[in-house]
Parts: sequence; C-alpha cells; structure tokens
Amino acid sequence: MIDINKVRDDFPILFRKVYNKPLIYFDNAATTQKPKCVVDKIEEMYYTLNANIHRGVHYLSQQATDEHEAARVTIQKFIGAKSSNEIVFTRGTTESINLIASTYCRAFCQPDDEIIVSTMEHHSNIVPWQLQEEITGVKLRVIPINDKGELIIEEFEKLINPRTKLVSITHISNALGTINDIEEIIKIAHKNDVPVLIDAAQSVQHLPVDVQKLDCDFLVFSAHKVYGPTGIGILYGKEEWLNKLPPYHGGGEMIANVSFEKTTFNDLPYKFEAGTPDFVGSTAMAAAIDYITDIGLDNIVKYEHELLEYATEQLLKIDGLTIYGTSANKSSVVSFLVKDIHHYDMGMLLDKMGIAVRTGHHCAQPLMNRMNVDGTVRASFSFYNTKEEIDQLITGINRVVTMF
Ligand code: PLP
Repeated sequence: MIDINKVRDDFPILFRKVYNKPLIYFDNAATTQKPKCVVDKIEEMYYTLNANIHRGVHYLSQQATDEHEAARVTIQKFIGAKSSNEIVFTRGTTESINLIASTYCRAFCQPDDEIIVSTMEHHSNIVPWQLQEEITGVKLRVIPINDKGELIIEEFEKLINPRTKLVSITHISNALGTINDIEEIIKIAHKNDVPVLIDAAQSVQHLPVDVQKLDCDFLVFSAHKVYGPTGIGILYGKEEWLNKLPPYHGGGEMIANVSFEKTTFNDLPYKFEAGTPDFVGSTAMAAAIDYITDIGLDNIVKYEHELLEYATEQLLKIDGLTIYGTSANKSSVVSFLVKDIHHYDMGMLLDKMGIAVRTGHHCAQPLMNRMNVDGTVRASFSFYNTKEEIDQLITGINRVVTMF
C-alpha cells in the first residue's frame, strides 16, 4: 500500500503554490517530479564525487566510475536485462530511437524495406524513421487503431511481409493512455523473424517491465519520466543485436584504438557512449529507480489504477465531456474535451486555479488527426496524486464550463 502522506513529503515541489493556490500537478506524462533522494544524489555527486570517469587513475575518478557502473547494474535489474552490457546510457528516449533508426537502417535496410510503427506513436517514434526514409529509402508502414484508441492487431498481421525489417511501437500511448498488447505484437513479429523496439517512455514508471520475459529486441525510456533527472535515458538492446550494429556517435570512450589509417571500436556498451558520460545523471537516475522500487511497482499499479478509475467516473459526470482513449487497458492518463471549449482555454483557466494539465497535440499529431481533433486536455496521474486533487480538477472544469 502507498503511504500517501509519506510519499508526498518526499516531493518538496508538491508543497509550493502557483497563483497563490496549492499546486496540483497532473502533467506527469510530460515529466515527473523529483523526490529529495534524487536531488540529494546530484548534490552529493557534485560536492563529493566529481571527476571524469573511466579514464582516471586517481581515487575520485575511480569512485565516480564505480558509482556510474553500479547505476548501470541498477537499471539492468530494474528491466530484467541479462547483462549490464545491454544497457546504454543516452540522452533519453528520443536519442535512443534515433540511435537505433540510424544504425539499424544503415546496417540492415535496403531501399523499399519497411519499418512498422503505429498511429498512436509520439513524434519521436515517427520522425527518426522518416529521416531514414530520406537517407536509406526505407518506407514507414502504420498500424491503424480503432475508435477506442486500440491497435488493430489483425491489420498489423496484414502489414508484415518479407520487406518488413523492424517493428517500433509504443508500450503505452502518452496521449490516450492505451496499454498495448506488446507481448502479442512481439510474438507475431518474431514468428516472422522481425525484431521489435518498444518505446517504454510511458510504461516503466507505471508497471513492471521485464525485457527477457517480453523478449523485445530493443527498449527505450527517459529518466525524467521515471522521477529521475532530465537529459539522460536508456537504450536496452539484446547483446547480439547491439554487437551487430555500427557505432552512432564518434569520439572518446567509444574507441579501442585510433589511428589515421584505422580506428577500432570499444566493447559494449561503450561503443555507443561517445564522450564524457553523464555520471551525475546516471547515478541520480539509479536513485530514482531505487526509490520507486522501494515503493513497489505493484503498489504503484494498484494505486494509479484507482486514481484513473475515480477520475474517469467523475469526469464522465460532466455534461458534454468526451474522453479520448477508452481502451479497457489504460494507464493513469485521461485525455478529454468539454463541448466546444478549446483545450488551450481549458488548460489556461485550470492553470489559474493551480492545476497543471497539458493541452495540445501531445507530440502525436497523426493520432490527433485520427481522433478528428487538433488537441485535447490531458491529466496524467502519478502515485503522489490524490482523489482530493481529482475533486479539485472536477470543480475547476465545472467552473470553466460556467464561464463559457
Ligand atoms: N515516447 C513517448 C511515448 C513519450 O511519451 C515521450 C515523451 O513524452 C517520448 C517518446 C520522448 O521522450 P523524451 O522527450 O524524454 O526523449
């Protein structure tokens, strides 16, 4: 069970006011707030352990290196990877997808080969592949969704053909909250010898994810959505795949030997980690993961589901409110519009009441087009939110409705 008062005490920002009103933070799908232990870790690293890692013989450098590599192991265990060599630090989900799009297409794709994504992808799982359309001539194929915002699996099966080279799909939709049946997708893709990349940007913070059980080939996520710092994230790849891919960025760390005649590259995971690693970010990310592991993902799933059900029930009592994304299997995200009130107006007015929601297309314009809207209001809940805060949201929406 979640001890809500204790948990909230760990997040100082939840006690600040905006416009002289207590902050109600419902923009967790964009980024999560940071517990004290994460900020403390950043401070500790800079105050007591700051030294460039991997290359130093001195004590401080070795200690910082040990912390950075221990963080990699924490993340390995968190997602159930076989080896810490399969954990590559990147700048986040976006960079991880760009890394795979670029190296995978370069190594394995010919013009007219196909990459499958879905209608509900975040732009960061669309545009990197479109860049590859121009560079390597691959073509994007798109799994359609139904009106509830669920993938149509039969259509996915029809899309797979001998030219299909990779499936890159989100685990959870950031805009609708739909939890996709990625087990089934991976099974179907593998039956056809096609590898699968899972965009877990919206999932690892909400439910347990085990890459070996899933048998996904790649999985990516960002620390800042998992209660960790900004600017760092993860690319998981099966070792056999990562070994087959060429390097992405060139520079220090990623080499074995450099000469003007021939340069050779470092082993995994360093082959993909050019330049000074973000060892402050990695250790703070590990602190965040330890924090949510202590709370327990099973507790998080249960509590956030209660919040989702409560919010859905209360929102649907509002006359003229439509929820976008009505899959039976959803994470704690509710996207909605009320009558013809523009999402931006709703967001602005709620903000004046201290309620932070997101409005707009949520970096998912093709999905918005499919739902026939140009944007929605999105409230996304974390385990530090409460039903009382949801009541405030409902009161706020009702007030906005009376203004129009
Ligand atoms: N994929 C999904 C599903 C997301 O929700 C997001 C961010 O909202 C991203 C990718 C991009 O994440 P980042 O901006 O941290 O790279």
